[in-house]
Amino acid sequence: MQGIRDREQETMKDIIVQKYGGTSVGDVDKIKKVARRVASYSRKGYKVVVVVSALGGTTDELIKLADQINKNPSEREMDMLLSTGEQVSVSLLAMALHKLGVDAISFTGAQVGIRTDSSHTKARIVDIGTSRIKEKLKKGSVVIVAGFQGVSGDQEITTLGRGGSDMTAVALAKVLKARECEIYTDVKGVYTADPRLVKNARKLESISYEEMLELASLGAQVMQARSIEVAGKYNVPIHVRASFCKEKGTMISKEVRSMEDVLVRGVTANKKEAKVTVCDVPDKPGEASKLFERLAEARINVDMIIQNISRTRKTDISFTVPTSDLAKTQEVVRKVNKEIGAKGAKYDRDIAKISVVGIGMRSHSGVAAKMFKALAARKINIEMISTSEIKISCVIHRTDADKAIKALHDSFGLGKKTLSRKKRAVRS
Ligand code: ADP
Ligand code: ASP
Ligand code: MG
Repeated sequence: MQGIRDREQETMKDIIVQKYGGTSVGDVDKIKKVARRVASYSRKGYKVVVVVSALGGTTDELIKLADQINKNPSEREMDMLLSTGEQVSVSLLAMALHKLGVDAISFTGAQVGIRTDSSHTKARIVDIGTSRIKEKLKKGSVVIVAGFQGVSGDQEITTLGRGGSDMTAVALAKVLKARECEIYTDVKGVYTADPRLVKNARKLESISYEEMLELASLGAQVMQARSIEVAGKYNVPIHVRASFCKEKGTMISKEVRSMEDVLVRGVTANKKEAKVTVCDVPDKPGEASKLFERLAEARINVDMIIQNISRTRKTDISFTVPTSDLAKTQEVVRKVNKEIGAKGAKYDRDIAKISVVGIGMRSHSGVAAKMFKALAARKINIEMISTSEIKISCVIHRTDADKAIKALHDSFGLGKKTLSRKKRAVRS
């Protein structure tokens, strides 16, 4: 028995999970290129499990399509619709691998037993059956799994939230005890800021789960936040790297000591939140609780909350919600306002939340002061502030967001060190 288990353990070590994001499979040429990369790993003897996202832009297109038909579509039907995107890309990649003479088979989430709870559009994985995948791997097949989707206990198709293919990859790497979980994307790794916006952003060699989780939750799209939560919980090391280049990317793993020396690891912006202000809420115990209870019941994720000082026994409560939940929020607020006798509400979509993140903040002071000074120097007004042990966030006007990110990136010295004029002259 023990011998069998050891041998099984040996084989498992050779499994690698590779996830290719939407932009990496955006067109036929890219799918063929991805197939060549996968084939090269398979030929080296690895047992490769590939997770693929829908072709770039597909999920957004499907959402738009639904919106043209029904502004408030059923979440079950949304999952039926959105899960089709990944079904297209997995089968095309399998065909591309066949063309290269590589044995490969594609599966939906349900086919490989990615079981989730029944929270449509943001389901959580509860269990993954590995027998079908292992059986195919043993036979030498590359196994291609549709990212972002699963099946609930009552056999309904579910999806795992935007960016959810990252979650599929991390969960598979965990249950298969893979030696690597590679996240292939359209940038070379995790940077000190979005490299598309900040030209001198620096690629990080490594980052802790904790910092990556904050950056991702606060808007850095490169990894889905929930996938990092799971990776951290089960200690699944992740390698974020570019699909079409061999260079090493960024390792996401447990905290290492040297990381504490860095005050700020990165800056990020979230432009997908809106600010809600409920006006003239009676200032007595229980009123805020009613409001936030109703919002929670509607499964709305409330982020920053501010209650102003009351001088008249009435107070204003402001909070932020994802813009995608704004319509639902308005409905809830309207009902609660009647219940508690609040006057009305204001909604502001033109906000952005900008944040600085770093484990080093735990042991250093002055980060907030430096952040506010950098914003003030650019005449950027701060509307809300929130802090945690390793991050500081400010809500500002959305049109100021890019300027603010560049300013913070500079102020905290995060950019690539440019060569001095003298050194440049020597080199040229
Ligand atoms: P994929 O389709 O591969 O899942 P995403 O679009 O979800 O790719 O994520 C990659 C994008 O994340 C990059 O194109 C980049 O613009 C953005 N991004 C935002 N913040 C960062 C960051 N700190 N480091 C790297 N990329 C970032
Ligand atoms: N296709 C899904 C999305 O666009 C999942 C993913 O790409 O990870 O959100
Ligand atoms: Mg993504």
